[in-house]
Amino acid sequence: MSIQSNLNTIKATLPENVTLVAVSKTKPVSDLMQAYEAGQRVFGENKIQEMADKWEEMPKDIQWHMIGHVQSNKVKFMAPFVSLIHGVDSLKLLQEINKQALKNNRIIDCLLQIYIAEEETKFGLDENELNELLSSSELKEFKNIRILGLMGMATFTENQNQIQKEFAHLKSIFDSIKKKNKLESFSTISMGMSGDYQLAIECGSTMVRIGSSIFGGR
Ligand SMILES: *Cc1c(COP(=O)(O)O)cnc(C)c1O
Repeated sequence: MSIQSNLNTIKATLPENVTLVAVSKTKPVSDLMQAYEAGQRVFGENKIQEMADKWEEMPKDIQWHMIGHVQSNKVKFMAPFVSLIHGVDSLKLLQEINKQALKNNRIIDCLLQIYIAEEETKFGLDENELNELLSSSELKEFKNIRILGLMGMATFTENQNQIQKEFAHLKSIFDSIKKKNKLESFSTISMGMSGDYQLAIECGSTMVRIGSSIFGGR
């Protein structure tokens, strides 16, 4: 199967309100260009340096999403161009993103990463930490960031019930935040990858991050 036909097959199954992030990490620019030529404009990378290199080489109407864990000291390398940062999980990181966004005279959109999986290795905030972050007075001072919603990753398992429960958990956190806080821009739930995006959409995902089903295995 070609990248183009993979893309078209997936796009045909996505509801209109769901954004497709084509996860292109480790793939060469020639592969990304095939997706670009098929109309894809949103790409996700998990390493800042790799994303910056691709950004330099590729057409400038691409929206670059950082989906990996972000180290504060590297924010400056993507601040000029990044379109959405999915994996934000601390006030300290938001502060650095705000600082670098200001330097670039931009407002940078962010998602807060929520820990929903059973695995120890996944990054993210729990619900209490999320509420604490959202109610902190410092957050209100950050004029150059905008929090668009939440991101989460389910446990890597075959157990559909468990994945479903984890996605439903993220959706319920999203709904309660939306109710409590008057965040106008709060509208995005980034959940679902190649193996579980259909389930994620059933559970309320508005943004799916799909790599291997488009570009092949890594
Ligand atoms: C790699 C990655 C994906 C895409 O995974 P696939 O299984 O290849 O679709 C999605 N989200 C994150 C955070 C990733 O690191």
